[in-house]
Amino acid sequence: MNKYHTVVIGGGCLGTASAIALANHLKSSKKNPESICLVEKNILSSALSIRHSGIVRAANADANAAKLAKISTDMWMNIKNIWGAELEPERNGALWITKKNENGTNEKWDKLAYDLKHVPVNFNKITKDAAQKLCPDFVELHDSEVFYYEPDAFQLEPAHVRLALYQSIHQSQATLFENEEVMGFKKNKANKITEVILTNRVIKTDNVINAAGAWSPKLFKNLGLNIPVGAEPVLVANWLNSLSTEKKPMPIIADYTNRAYFRTWRDGEVHMHQPRNRWLDETRSLFADNHLDIIGADFINNPVYQMQGLSNLHNYKDIANKRFNNLQNTVFSSGHQSYFDITPDLKFILGPDSKISNLLHCLGSGQAFKYAPVFGEMMKQYIFNAGELSDLGNNFLIKRFDGSFMKNFLDKYSGVNYTLNQVNQVNNAL
Ligand SMILES: Cc1cc2nc3c(=O)[nH]c(=O)nc-3n(C[C@H](O)[C@H](O)[C@H](O)COP(=O)(O)OP(=O)(O)OC[C@H]3O[C@@H](n4cnc5c(N)ncnc54)[C@H](O)[C@@H]3O)c2cc1C
Repeated sequence: MNKYHTVVIGGGCLGTASAIALANHLKSSKKNPESICLVEKNILSSALSIRHSGIVRAANADANAAKLAKISTDMWMNIKNIWGAELEPERNGALWITKKNENGTNEKWDKLAYDLKHVPVNFNKITKDAAQKLCPDFVELHDSEVFYYEPDAFQLEPAHVRLALYQSIHQSQATLFENEEVMGFKKNKANKITEVILTNRVIKTDNVINAAGAWSPKLFKNLGLNIPVGAEPVLVANWLNSLSTEKKPMPIIADYTNRAYFRTWRDGEVHMHQPRNRWLDETRSLFADNHLDIIGADFINNPVYQMQGLSNLHNYKDIANKRFNNLQNTVFSSGHQSYFDITPDLKFILGPDSKISNLLHCLGSGQAFKYAPVFGEMMKQYIFNAGELSDLGNNFLIKRFDGSFMKNFLDKYSGVNYTLNQVNQVNNAL
């Protein structure tokens, strides 16, 4: 086949989920599912989509993101009927921990719990005693902290998810090109993409979905598009635990006292990583220093950039020591450096491009694995019939970054202002 209904670029969890949803839709409408083409430059789920923690939860400070996460959580639980793949979630819920302030609670988090009731997401404040009962004995909780419990959160095993993505794409009968890279595009006079240039062939298409994650800025630069995605480094560490001491399952621990997520992993390890940085200046500096539109994102898969520094590991050990009283009896098992795919406002980029009408974006922002099924359905709605999901997606359109957004965003970063002024002065002097 040389002409496709839709070409999806990027075989991470978001691109694969999009291709599955579109092909399944065509199949159920008695149309050709092979006309959906998923193109992956390496192999499926080999970039960020194999380096996540498999945590699926719905609590989110953004109400629209929480709504989507709630729908996605329900979809993951029913994924056999939706994708046809078997996945066994570990349903231990999530314990959220943060610091109390002077008046004995944390108003911001109390408000979050209140707001989430309207989504509705089950996210309830609980006492320290109730929180302790949910945890194995080695988890240390403190009187200076407040606790919230999300019972419907669960964890999946990333390697199993990867297998499910392979099974589901094959069952959907979408066309899959692995080890084929999208090198460029041809457009017509109406500014629509008509051809996609791959390593070994050129294919025609009616629609394009960009699910190339951190690779998007470089890929679309030649089309004159500015896709603001950055790569924020984050370490991952796994600690091997004795299997004879504690049999009780541990909930996912979202520890905002010490800024770390913990989950149990591979039957007997505690897995940890820090959350995305939420300081605006840090995000700004990342976009100022890290021009993925020039350097691309191949470093993400380069082992040299996955090495973990010893001092960082000590830092993680200190953090973990504050939460687990048995860490002296655990062994460092493995760890690596990974990257969050983030946008300037830490929100997804979804739906139609603002300049090219047959291009859609399906990009996360450092927390998107859990959204894969719902984003796939959303892409289907954008292309076939608008609905509740595409309406929700409209809150995350790329057009919010048009105009002077990036300039203002970067100008506010005083360090860059200073540096650029210096550079200008040097240039003028020359
Ligand atoms: C340590 C860590 C823990 C995380 N834990 C969680 C978690 O518990 N829960 C959660 O929801 N999220 C989590 N995340 C976030 C999650 O991993 C990502 O948001 C998600 O995997 C992004 O998926 P993606 O499909 O957009 O990107 P990717 O998986 O990066 O996929 C993009 C794909 O596009 C391909 N590609 C790029 N350019 C081209 C081209 N020109 N032609 C063809 N193919 C191309 C790449 O090879 C790649 O496979 C975590 C992230 C990190 C770093």
